[in-house]
Amino acid sequence: HNANLYAILASGFPTDRNTVAIETPSRQYSYGDIEQTSARLAAYLTSLGMAPGERVLVQVEKSPEALIFYLGVLRAGFVYVPLNSAYREAEVAYFLGDARPSLIVCDESSRAWIYGLAHEGGGVRVETLNADGSGTLFDAAQDFEPAFTTVDTRNDDLGVILYTSGTTGRSKGAMLSHRNMASNAQVLHQYWGWQSSDVLLHMLPIFHVHGLFVAAHGALLAGARMIWLPKLDIEQALHYLPRCTVMMGVPTYYVRLLAQPEFGREHCKSMRLFVSGSAPLLQETFEAFQQRTGHFILERYGMSETVMLTSNPYSPEDGPRLGGTVGRPLPGVSVRITNDVDQALPDLEIGHVQVRGENVFSGYWQMPDKTRESFTDDGWFRTGDVGHWNSQGYLVIVGRSKDLIISGGYNVYPKEIELMIDEMPGVSESAVVGVPHPDFGEAVVAVVVPQPGVMLDPIAIQHHLKASIANFKVPKQVHIISELPRNTMGKVQKNVLRERYQTS
Ligand code: ATP
Ligand code: MG
Repeated sequence: HNANLYAILASGFPTDRNTVAIETPSRQYSYGDIEQTSARLAAYLTSLGMAPGERVLVQVEKSPEALIFYLGVLRAGFVYVPLNSAYREAEVAYFLGDARPSLIVCDESSRAWIYGLAHEGGGVRVETLNADGSGTLFDAAQDFEPAFTTVDTRNDDLGVILYTSGTTGRSKGAMLSHRNMASNAQVLHQYWGWQSSDVLLHMLPIFHVHGLFVAAHGALLAGARMIWLPKLDIEQALHYLPRCTVMMGVPTYYVRLLAQPEFGREHCKSMRLFVSGSAPLLQETFEAFQQRTGHFILERYGMSETVMLTSNPYSPEDGPRLGGTVGRPLPGVSVRITNDVDQALPDLEIGHVQVRGENVFSGYWQMPDKTRESFTDDGWFRTGDVGHWNSQGYLVIVGRSKDLIISGGYNVYPKEIELMIDEMPGVSESAVVGVPHPDFGEAVVAVVVPQPGVMLDPIAIQHHLKASIANFKVPKQVHIISELPRNTMGKVQKNVLRERYQTS
């Protein structure tokens, strides 16, 4: 049997290939279109004479054509390397040097400088693909047959190099095999009850796990329909939601929906599943969403290196969905919480999150040392996240080990302080970071966002905290700002905050 991820996804395509796979506000693409166009693209790629395992670097705007190209790359047996479309020249130069692709696909608007970089890199081929599907890539593929025998792939063959979001440092290329991705798609298919009648509202970018794997793989394997928007557009979202059965979003999407007074039960009348991930969903958002719509958002947890790891229950028989937790390990995934010497800790104790399973990647591209450090002697992957089991056996993520603050020799978990600040009247959200301090090593700094129209007093916040937590945890500084810095995946950029407040 062929382990090629495309072949596995295609096994779920509807027999009637005229069934709509992707719907945009202006066009529809059937499963037949996906099959035929990805075949032309795969045939075109094969004609370039690249060897198996060679990389195709893609930095384009989100479009159905970009997704179809991804499938074409899989079919031809090459390695797909998507890049955040926001990266500019200096950033792309790093990824180019690291991935050393044989082909680069970019938007027409960045062709000139990408061509310059490609030339320095030894004359790599460059093709263009624009947001509307136009460009040299599809023009070239047009001359090839709309049929292609998907390349026979083994389980461990590399399918994608997915660069991590770069939240804690320089992005690392996670090497994912066809099997890593396929096993996760199959597990989620079962666990979240995907059906061919599903309609997924797809508003996430397709250069990360969430939009490309969790969302798109899920819909394709189910033979379902995707309503495809380039990004979160509140008006469009409210327009399409009543027809949708599944929506996936980062936490800010749910905050934005709740900010619309007209958003409510009517919009969710066909909905069976709201999924949140990529960053922590505030308990407050979880509760407000439930009150407004009757839906418990399902929060799940994963990362570039492992695809999905844990999920709150889908079926009520498996238990309730608990806000502030990321649920239980998915079938086939093992999770343990350990101390600093990789020994499992009892429930409720905070420690390192380590994982194992068919979904876990084989290592970081061109980073053998980093790869070695990232696995324990007994083969568990160190996620870099810190968490604990709650009394019901659900995982609670407390933060990242890199964000842990050590002040005066004591460990401070930012989450504990953030949760207390968030509870205070007039507070919308907060972030707690450590900055260098001559006496304490690190000092705790809190950055607080008020609710609209509220004036917060930093001194009052410090006083309030002094009354309830140990002095070494009380922020030495409290800054009131209107918005936390976030990346495209809605992750708070604590490194930006650390830098901003380190000298004040
Ligand atoms: P880098 O590894 O380059 O610093 P990154 O870790 O943000 O960046 P991703 O692989 O895109 O890159 O993100 C995975 C991380 O996102 C996880 O390790 C975790 O910290 C966070 N995350 C994902 N889902 C959740 C969730 N539901 N709750 C809390 N954190 C989450
Ligand atoms: Mg990471």
